[in-house]
Order: sequence, then structure tokens, then C-alpha cells
Amino acid sequence: MSADDAVATDPVEWKLLPKTAAVGEDGHLRVGDIDLLDLAAEFGTPLFVYDEYHLRQACRAAVAAWGDGVAYAAKAFLCRAMARLAFEEGMHLDVASGGELHVALSAGVPPAKLILHGNNKSEEELATALECGIGRIVVDSFDEIARLGRLLETLPARSERPAVLVRVTPGVEAHTHEFVRTGGEDSKFGFSVASGAAAQAVAALELLPSVELVGVHAHIGSQVFDVSSFEQAAEVLGRFFAPLGLPELVVGGGLGVPYVNGESAPTQVEWADATRAACARMGVDPSVRISAEPGRSIVAAAGITLYTVGTVKRLLGIRTYVSVDGGMSDNPRPVLYGSGYEAFLPRVVRASRPEPIRLVGKHCESGDLVVPQAFVPADLQVGDVVATPVTGAYGYSMASNYNKVPRPAVVFVADGSARVVVRRETLEDLTRLDS
Ligand code: PLP
Repeated sequence: MSADDAVATDPVEWKLLPKTAAVGEDGHLRVGDIDLLDLAAEFGTPLFVYDEYHLRQACRAAVAAWGDGVAYAAKAFLCRAMARLAFEEGMHLDVASGGELHVALSAGVPPAKLILHGNNKSEEELATALECGIGRIVVDSFDEIARLGRLLETLPARSERPAVLVRVTPGVEAHTHEFVRTGGEDSKFGFSVASGAAAQAVAALELLPSVELVGVHAHIGSQVFDVSSFEQAAEVLGRFFAPLGLPELVVGGGLGVPYVNGESAPTQVEWADATRAACARMGVDPSVRISAEPGRSIVAAAGITLYTVGTVKRLLGIRTYVSVDGGMSDNPRPVLYGSGYEAFLPRVVRASRPEPIRLVGKHCESGDLVVPQAFVPADLQVGDVVATPVTGAYGYSMASNYNKVPRPAVVFVADGSARVVVRRETLEDLTRLDS
């Protein structure tokens, strides 16, 4: 079905829900064999609910498609439980700051399974990574090459040289929001292939005896639906990479996910196969480890956010505003990227949704939208639990305390039990850092 065939008032499409979604005899939505309304009652709202089976299956699908070396991009959603889960399912982890590195290490993920990213890694972040024996560092600038060289002169000598990759920009514009496009020439990330900077960076790293250059890395953007964008990038990358004779090529993340009824996206296998075929056409040796760093496609659809409706304001001839107890502080994507979502009532998940509303948060901004154009059952009322599906990626990880609203709890559900993996912030937490 195309987006044009989708009727706004239809119930939320089943494929937007986590894999263990089921309807109870009472019509309520169950995930991980638990009624979502019971979760809201027990843990309060707003609440992030993740289907653990879905998370594990998504990691396994990525490992099956890409093989050893595929990394979960932790920025999409990170806490210790998630880091452990991705590692247990055979994934490496891509961390993009000293903070993400700290969480992954404190979860017990072996340093050798971590890849450090960042366009402005501090000396401290690099030193921590080197000292712990991180698996890979993705080098992003000439300043960083110099910084690495200086640091390695001062740190105690190691038996193995740290392995590094060069981040390059292939000059391919992914068809996605400009804020999440990263592979074009006008980018703060990496070294341009076209300008020759990427070749200079390779030469500089080959001259640095204290590191081992093992590969090339690129990431063209996020929420990419068109496999041909990945293919074009892989062709540019493959052409640059093949003559270098290096063993690793990483194509980043970016696989899109459907957020609303009528959307569909390629699978991990389609993405991996198209990438490998493009690399082969460009002469990349079959022995090269080609891998990726999916983030959103691992966690987005595993997560649902539950809110409680606090007010319903019907503005005659204008629209109906339904306000919930969260908003841009738990999901800034609608504000940042104009992202759309579905909304539904877990108590009647199969019901049609004839009533157009605007679902808004509780923050002091008119732009505080949860779902700008939502459709809900006509009997929605104050006190109802309302859910937004596909909120497992870049929601909690981008959450803030704006208006001093405490961040929600996160629970993982599986086989009839729920465990809190991140507790809800308290009012005390809000003053913890104040002097
Ligand atoms: N790898 C890198 C270097 C990234 O910058 C990102 C996202 O920004 C990802 C992987 C993950 O992308 P996605 O969540 O779209 O799969």
C-alpha cells in the first residue's frame, strides 16, 4: 500500500507496532504479553515501552544481513540495558561521545566492540578511548589526526596500535531532511572524496606510525528510504576505497523506518545486498569486511510512548487540541524535523479514528507538537492513555528537562513481565546539579 492509499481514519497499521503486539479479549493493546494500560497504571506516564523481543530480532536481522562487525548506533537510544542487549545479540556499538562511551563501558560491553565517532572529539575523549583499548576510532579531521599523534606520544606504549578508519563524505545527497543529511560536500563531517582531502587524510594516517589505518567510513544521512541513495554512495566509496587495499569499509547507518500508515522501507538485507553489489561493481575485494551502523532501524518500531490526556480544547471552526503530560521534552523530532506520527488509544487499538485533532505537549511553546495532525476515536476523553508508536529512536536519547519536566521512565517488556531500565526522574533529580 502506498501513502496515498492510506485512509487517515483507519486504525494504526499493525506493522507500525512492536513485533509482539496483540489485542487482548478486552480490545486493549498488549505488548510483550502485557496490557499497555496496566503499564501506564503501574509506572505512570509519560512512559517509554520497548518490546524486548522486537529489539533482539532487529539486532539479529542486522547481524544476519551484514555479518560480523555491524554496529548498533547507540545515539538512537542508549542505556545500559540497551547496550548489553545489542552486544548479547552480536552487535558492536557505535558511540559518538565520551558520554556514550562511558555508558557502553559501564554496561560491560568489551572495549574491542566499540567504535568511537565524532567530528570534535576532545583530547580527554580520545585518551579514554585509547586507554580502554577501544576497537576502532573513526577519524574526522586533520586536527584530530594531529591530536591523536600527540596523545599517542604521551600515553604508555601498547602492544597493539589503535585501529582507525577515515570518515569520508562521498558527495551524495540522501533524499532526507537536511538536518540529517551528512554525506554531501557541504558538511561538518569527515573528509571530502571529491576535493582530495580524503586521500590526504589516508596519506597522513599511513605516515602516523602509532596507529593502524584499517578502513574507510561514511554515513550519508538518516531516515533514507531509497536504496539507490545507498547504492550511489557505495559506488563513490567503493571507487575511492578499492585501490587502498584496506580490509574494512563501513557505510554508516541511515536505513529509514515507516512512521505513519502507508509508509514502507527497505529491509536490512535489501540495504546490505545493494551496498555489497555496488562495492563489487567498483572492484572492492570480496575479502573486505563491509559493515554498517544501523540505529533507528533497530529501535524505532520497538518503542511506544504512553501519555495521559489532560485537556481537550475544541476551538470551533479551527481545530481540537488534545494536551498530554509530555511533549517536546520526550520527543523533539516533530519540532526539529517536522516529523509525523500516528496516535491511537491502546484501550481500542482496532477502532477507527474519525476525529482529527492536534496532539500537543505541556510545554510553554506553541511549537510543542506531539502529532501535528492526528486522528483518534471520537470518544477520546480526559484521562485516556494515548499512545504514539515508532518512538523508540531519537526520542528518549534527545529528551530534555525543558520547563523542568522530569524525563519519563523506560521499561522493557517481555513474556508477561516489565522491567524498568531507566527510572523516571524525580523532582529531586531536577536540582541535583544545582549548587
Ligand atoms: N552512524 C553515524 C556515523 C551516524 O551519524 C548515524 C546517525 O546520525 C548513524 C550511524 C545511525 O543512523 P540511523 O539511526 O539513521 O540508522
